[in-house]
Amino acid sequence: GIPTVRPKPLAERRHSRQIMVGNVPVGGDAPVSVQSMTTTVTADVNSTLQQIAELTASGCQIVRVAVPSQDDAEALPIIAKKSQIPVIADIHFQPKYVFAAIEAGCAAVRVNPGNIKKFDDKVSEIARAAADHGVPIRIGVNAGSLDPRLLQKYGKATPEALVESALWECSLFEEHGFRDIKISVKHNDPVVMINAYRLLAAKCDYPLHLGVTEAGPAFQGTIKSAVAFGALLAEGIGDTIRVSLSAPPVEEVKVGNQILESLGLRERGLEIVSCPSCGRAQVDVYTLADQVQAGLEGLKVPLRVAVMGCVVNGPGEAREADLGVASGNGKGQIFVKGEVIKTVPESQIVETLIEEALRLAEEMGVE
Ligand code: SF4
Repeated sequence: GIPTVRPKPLAERRHSRQIMVGNVPVGGDAPVSVQSMTTTVTADVNSTLQQIAELTASGCQIVRVAVPSQDDAEALPIIAKKSQIPVIADIHFQPKYVFAAIEAGCAAVRVNPGNIKKFDDKVSEIARAAADHGVPIRIGVNAGSLDPRLLQKYGKATPEALVESALWECSLFEEHGFRDIKISVKHNDPVVMINAYRLLAAKCDYPLHLGVTEAGPAFQGTIKSAVAFGALLAEGIGDTIRVSLSAPPVEEVKVGNQILESLGLRERGLEIVSCPSCGRAQVDVYTLADQVQAGLEGLKVPLRVAVMGCVVNGPGEAREADLGVASGNGKGQIFVKGEVIKTVPESQIVETLIEEALRLAEEMGVE
């Protein structure tokens, strides 16, 4: 059945400073958090809050909103106040919105120094305002908007260029005694991104926000992010993650949570262990697995449910799981905690598994 303790981590976690993004600790020994970004016009307060509520319900822990205009900046106080999770203001180009966001009660501000001209002159004021309000800053370097000086020096957005840019901006804050910082160095190529974060991880102790930027549509973006985050998190690098998909942000959160669950960095929720099916399958495994998944969607309970197509690995996997079915001969043997509790006709497999899962959830004290 489900292990009651977390699996042993893959590598010792990199030692990073801890910062607080609102009430969510990032870095140190805090669990890796999942964040996303709204796609609404921030100034449209109702739509933005609605989307934040959906993100929160799907397991998002920190949300970022874009602040490209004065109207957006003016919407920040109410959004920061009414959001259930900490709100980070994402600011390019305009330092004045940084001050607005800090005043508005945002939990953090993301700045992209490559996109703020004359940023260097403003750092002391930003550092003071942020320190006064206890607001951390994310230095968010992006391959697509690298500081022109570094682009010239390196010719393109290499890992070294991304890291040098980030650490240079950090040094400007450090000059003013400000170290309440987290960093991202995003690139659309997972290989460049992995190398950039490795380099950065070795050079500083700031908490790191992982992201593959412009990762692409859902399928490609999911895989790029899973591979890149998986490589880094398995080395103990990464304190908060954002999956970027050209898809609704709720999808980003689901992918982010699944990545953490896969690595044992987050308590596993519902897990369907289903076989890929093969020439031996005696039921339609795809449909069965989909139906079981759909029927149990939203059940917040760490259950492992095995859906197996035949008797080769079926009984073994079904026995290891909390609950499972091994199919054969138009019937399903239903296992609960290793025991066959009944055998049902194929047409009743899905409803029986759902029924048993709900019963187990109730026993575990979950609604
Ligand atoms: Fe094939 Fe049976 Fe294994 Fe499924 S459990 S992949 S049907 S051998």
